[in-house]
Amino acid sequence: MSVAEVLNADVVLAESVAVLRAATNALAELDASELSEAQLGDALLDLLQVRRQVDGALAAVGHRFVHSGAWAADGARDATGWVRGRTQDGFGSARRVFTTAGECAVFDQMGAALRRGEISVKHVTVLGEVARAFPRLQGHLKLAQPQIVTLAAEREPAAFARSLTAMCHRLDPIAAQEDTKAKERDYYLRASTLLDGAVRVDGMLPADVGQLLIASLEAARRTVAQDNDADAAKDGPTSDPDPADRATWEIDVFGTPIQPPELDPIDHRLTGARNIEALHRILTLAGAATPADGGLASVAGTRPTINVTVSVETLTAAPGEAGVDCGWLDRFGVPHQPITSDTARRLACDATLRPLLIDTDGQLVAFGTASRVIPPAMRALVVRRDRHCRFAGCRARIDEVHHLIYYSRGGPTRSDNLIGLCWHHHHLVHEAGWHLKGEPNHEVTGTGPDGRTWSSSPPARSNYS
Ligand SMILES: [Zn+2]
Ligand SMILES: [Zn+2]
Repeated sequence: MSVAEVLNADVVLAESVAVLRAATNALAELDASELSEAQLGDALLDLLQVRRQVDGALAAVGHRFVHSGAWAADGARDATGWVRGRTQDGFGSARRVFTTAGECAVFDQMGAALRRGEISVKHVTVLGEVARAFPRLQGHLKLAQPQIVTLAAEREPAAFARSLTAMCHRLDPIAAQEDTKAKERDYYLRASTLLDGAVRVDGMLPADVGQLLIASLEAARRTVAQDNDADAAKDGPTSDPDPADRATWEIDVFGTPIQPPELDPIDHRLTGARNIEALHRILTLAGAATPADGGLASVAGTRPTINVTVSVETLTAAPGEAGVDCGWLDRFGVPHQPITSDTARRLACDATLRPLLIDTDGQLVAFGTASRVIPPAMRALVVRRDRHCRFAGCRARIDEVHHLIYYSRGGPTRSDNLIGLCWHHHHLVHEAGWHLKGEPNHEVTGTGPDGRTWSSSPPARSNYS
């Protein structure tokens, strides 16, 4: 490149940035509320296109900057550090600029497509990730760029990633197999108990097991949701509000209409929270099948179910009572993990109890006959009466039956002291300060930790199907 060309490029860059700056300053002054609706969509698409092209220019300039070493003259460790020192961009977004810059330099035709606005930064990122996942195929990928650019321009990034991975397998099946094998040693799954008893789960699963997990969680979430919908449908058309009603809804600070809670059958907890309930459902199902039915093997004579050892004093204590012991969750038949007395009482609420007589040295003297706290017939009656969780606004399946006056405190196992709750709400009642009072056959009043109250009656008899 001659001196004249370099100077010329400098002039083009400086002039272009000046024009862009003038244009974006004008946009900054724009009052969007005065725009005519007819051109909003087109303007939106144009701006998105411009953003891609600016990203492309940023990558080209960024790549030159990294290799110029100009950042070193300012005492920065690297180009990312240089940008961080001069902007409020965090490490991630500063580094992203230079990662994209490197990817656009290696795959120069992709870089050109980004500068023309035909693809997005996300497509470049996908290609970079696939190239790192299949290091033996980088040469092939470079040669196949014309096809790759076409694929990227036609697909969303997720679909592009799948097509690109499939292309790698086609380009060189043996190299793709070796690269996949090399990743196998990175797969693991750990479940470790923390000091407070919570279990941390983390891992990296191979594609097949991972997809099975995702599909199973999705299926379990749907099963939980379907139980809700089936019951909601019986109560009439609450799930699909009349669009005319929407006009009267309140609007939140971001301008989104707030659906009144009584019309809102959707579970708004984040997927991450609903996954816990879904996993609970899957594990309960897995634990229920015996080895003869193709189920899981017993370990040390115990099925994979939840077993709790708890003293009579703890079981009969009032919530929050001082001086009582904790409960113990068993692992493989041995008390292993301390849990709060509240949790122990929740788990004992709808369980099979087996009295153990233990002397002062902790030695087992005798044990009594195991019996269901709530006999199956009584449980069936409560489930039939309540149909779904009785917590305010909840339509989930009844997972557990709760004693209003705790069984351990003399509360009778009768329908006027039993109420059906889902796993999530049973948890709230025992461990999050919600109090239930009243007569479940008629009306039960709940009080939240903030003092707000609600009441719940069994679904109307005319709605029984
Ligand atoms: Zn309970
Ligand atoms: Zn519930």
